[in-house]
Amino acid sequence: MTEPTVGWGRLLWRGATKRCPRCGGGHLYRGWFRMVDRCGSCGLRFEREPGFFVGAYLINFAIVIVLLFVVCMGYVAMKAVDASAPLMPIMVVGLVLAVAAPVLFYPFSRTLWSAIDIGMTPLTADEVDGAAAALARGEVGVAATTPPVA
Ligand SMILES: [Zn+2]
Repeated sequence: MTEPTVGWGRLLWRGATKRCPRCGGGHLYRGWFRMVDRCGSCGLRFEREPGFFVGAYLINFAIVIVLLFVVCMGYVAMKAVDASAPLMPIMVVGLVLAVAAPVLFYPFSRTLWSAIDIGMTPLTADEVDGAAAALARGEVGVAATTPPVA
């Protein structure tokens, strides 16, 4: 069985909008943190191997680093204009971003990572067959039994 080719733009868009990278199906979360094991539309198993979602944590980390870099550069620009600009408000903003951004981007980082991984490593025939079998058995769209580690 062969998969239709999906371009990187569509893959990344699906990932960034919390959709299944394979079929574009939605409703992949039961709550903000609890992702389903398999897509309810196509049966794709998202965790393709143990430790699969470490890549999602890396994406989340990178987003926070970029945001903190922007805050730091904002402070540098403020200091260039006003040498007496206070540091404390910038530190508070940075702290709030460092805590809130990983929580806010968490579900997006997981689906984005799934999309990137499928783009780099297309599904095997076993995965495609397993998805079809799970879909036929109705074992899809069920939240993971173990909550993710944030
Ligand atoms: Zn799907």
